[in-house]
Amino acid sequence: MLAALAVVPVLRLAVVRHAVPPGSARRSGCDACGAPISVGRPWPALGPAARCGGCGARVGPPPGTVELAAAAAAVAVLVLPRSSGGELAAMVWWLGWAVPLVFVDASVHRLPDRLTVPAAAGTWLLLGTAALTGAGVTPWVRATVAGLGLALFFATTTLLLGRRGFGLGDAKLALGAGALLGWSGWAVPVLGLLLALVLSGLVGLGLLLTRRVRWSSHLPFGPYLVLGTVAALLLVG
Ligand SMILES: [Zn+2]
Repeated sequence: MLAALAVVPVLRLAVVRHAVPPGSARRSGCDACGAPISVGRPWPALGPAARCGGCGARVGPPPGTVELAAAAAAVAVLVLPRSSGGELAAMVWWLGWAVPLVFVDASVHRLPDRLTVPAAAGTWLLLGTAALTGAGVTPWVRATVAGLGLALFFATTTLLLGRRGFGLGDAKLALGAGALLGWSGWAVPVLGLLLALVLSGLVGLGLLLTRRVRWSSHLPFGPYLVLGTVAALLLVG
């Protein structure tokens, strides 16, 4: 838990850097005064208060939110039973990228390759080490097929529905999510996807009813994919 809170400044930095509109350069400093933000001098911009040290403007996600998400991720890892070292490492790795991705997607509706690709690649490789160190090759093959299958599902909706489908960022996020879910069994990726769809549907409906969004609004799916993945892993674990 303390370790999770210790890495929060790095997670906050990832969000600050990448929560920018498509095509823009990564953010290197405060929007208001330009004071540089880096992990070398994390306070107070990357601390829980999320304020620029120069001008006091808000920097990145609201105070306390990333801290809460990291703590929740740590609890999820701790309560997940029967995990081998490699499997646990894969989950910690994936969550380390998934938490900033949730905030970036919620803020600018993007899932940048610079976060989704290392998330998927590292997860797959760590599961590979788990396969080599005792788990055997079967769950790894399943993880590989499930990751590719889930990614293909999201990519197909983009191809068929265009802007009304999911984005290619969702497909790349699904690569790692699918691998993590597929490791535990064939039905688990399906469960994770269903949970993500139900969660996003419920939230979307709530937002429609309270008139916060319109039918034509495009809601980010990344946060639900991450929540659905963690929920499915906890349910089957
Ligand atoms: Zn500032």
